[in-house]
Amino acid sequence: MSDGTYTYYDDDTAVELALLRKEVMPGHHRVILTLHDLSIGGERLTVWLTLGDARRMADAIEDGTPFEFVDPSDDVVSVEHGTLQTKISVICRSFLPDGEEPSRLSVRLAGVDVVLLLAELRTLSGRRVAPPANHALDTARVAVADMLGELTGNRRPKWRVIITDSESPTGIAPVCTGERSDALHTIPDFPGGPKRDDEGVYDCCPWPQIETGSTVMAAYLVELLNADTEGGDA
Ligand SMILES: [Zn+2]
Repeated sequence: MSDGTYTYYDDDTAVELALLRKEVMPGHHRVILTLHDLSIGGERLTVWLTLGDARRMADAIEDGTPFEFVDPSDDVVSVEHGTLQTKISVICRSFLPDGEEPSRLSVRLAGVDVVLLLAELRTLSGRRVAPPANHALDTARVAVADMLGELTGNRRPKWRVIITDSESPTGIAPVCTGERSDALHTIPDFPGGPKRDDEGVYDCCPWPQIETGSTVMAAYLVELLNADTEGGDA
């Protein structure tokens, strides 16, 4: 059984691109992409894509990003983007005698032909799956950025682990950038000489200072918050 056949003919290379969807087992479909060199003695190269792979190929065509897929028999289909055109290539590397170069065929599509190919791929493989939006997280992130802006002067401060009233680094707080930070974050009578105290909490240190009760939890939250900091401005 097959549903949907699409062909495109490249006048410059005399290569035809064909797409076909086939049910290979009950409930299992493949999108078969064939490039056929229509010159005399021409080759015919075929790659079988799962619907997921075909969707990723469609995404790459739509987004202008490169795509390469190697099927189980070691044949490759690739998408490359040039100026105003998209190149689809198939390289056949299966059943190669020693020393023989792999066969390769390409077509170049431009303008409306790219749009038609994309539409056909979407029809055969299914609609694009968008990642679910997490509005609750976005809202909470903006609210916290506003609060931290008020408290620290920086909407996305770097975080550190702190030692509050326990003996262990079980708390978290924004990195201290207070005016007298260097002077205050020093243990003057440390054995062997004064020592910088990065985990201590002094009058210069900004809020919020949060006790998690766990060194592991504190370390994780600091990594999480700092990953968010590096992710960009809220
Ligand atoms: Zn401080």
